[in-house]
Amino acid sequence: MNILCIGGGPAGLYFALLMKQQNPAHQVTVVERNRPFDTFGWGVVLSDQTLGNLRAADAPTAALIGDAFNHWDDIEVFFKGRSVRSTGHGFCGIGRKRLLNILQERCMAVGVDLVFETDVADDQTLAAQYNADLVIACDGLNSRIRTRYASTYQPDIDLRECRFVWLGTHKKLDAFTFAFEQTEHGWFQAHAYQFDADTSTFIIETPEAVWKAHGLDAMEQPEAIAFCEKLFAKYLDGNALISNATHLRGSANWIRFPRVICNTWVHRESIGGKPVPSC
Ligand SMILES: Cc1cc2nc3c(=O)[nH]c(=O)nc-3n(C[C@H](O)[C@H](O)[C@H](O)COP(=O)(O)OP(=O)(O)OC[C@H]3O[C@@H](n4cnc5c(N)ncnc54)[C@H](O)[C@@H]3O)c2cc1C
Repeated sequence: MNILCIGGGPAGLYFALLMKQQNPAHQVTVVERNRPFDTFGWGVVLSDQTLGNLRAADAPTAALIGDAFNHWDDIEVFFKGRSVRSTGHGFCGIGRKRLLNILQERCMAVGVDLVFETDVADDQTLAAQYNADLVIACDGLNSRIRTRYASTYQPDIDLRECRFVWLGTHKKLDAFTFAFEQTEHGWFQAHAYQFDADTSTFIIETPEAVWKAHGLDAMEQPEAIAFCEKLFAKYLDGNALISNATHLRGSANWIRFPRVICNTWVHRESIGGKPVPSC
């Protein structure tokens, strides 16, 4: 079978790897718009249970991921001047870039074709070009393909209320940390964890109204970061907050998460094949 994955994030790469392993006779290609080492963001968290699933699916990949992980068991919550620490949760953090590079290497080792720097404007044209029997739409949260076939997939997209920014810091954290800070306009929450020897992800989130009341919607990145550093100073011990999304301007750094649910099952008869679930 000729399989074409559009989008080379964790989902596309891992799917391609497992399909090729399952049957090396498949021709599997992943087409990605970025270069192999291009990403922004910081660490990604997986639970011990997820790691166990990865181990069962492909032990060599799980071993490489396990080696690159920072592991911890505790969750610590800071709220209204108190802190509560609970243990036994079992999480791992890994740099998003490292995760992508591990999956890319494993794909190449098993014979998946990786095509970078190709922004797919039209999935049908590409599918014809690759003579694809199966196209996997793995082009992320704001999927162009899902949008194109919205009348088929009928996605239920709920743009959530809060704004958040993905920052990093060299403050080392020994627990999955949730810190709440109140200002004159409302609450901010930091959600932070260490994912390699000297770096932690530090995500800051606040309701849209609070974000606007502080003028964060009109601030450029350095000013907004300075605001966050001041607000969360007691958790940072003098370490800076850092952005690696320098291509984003002003309010574009603060994202609202769309929660996406696809309600339909799509029958591939419509595109000439067997029934498959859409999401
Ligand atoms: C830039 C970024 C930074 C992140 N940072 C963090 C973080 O710091 N911490 C954390 O916990 N989680 C982070 N996440 C979230 C986490 O990585 C996601 O849950 C996970 O990436 C989802 O995997 P995915 O493969 O479904 O989608 P994605 O990772 O979004 O992958 C989709 C891929 O498709 C590619 N693509 C999209 N459209 C096209 C097109 N038309 N043509 C070709 N290629 C296309 C994109 O470039 C991307 O590589 C981040 C996600 C992104 C996208």
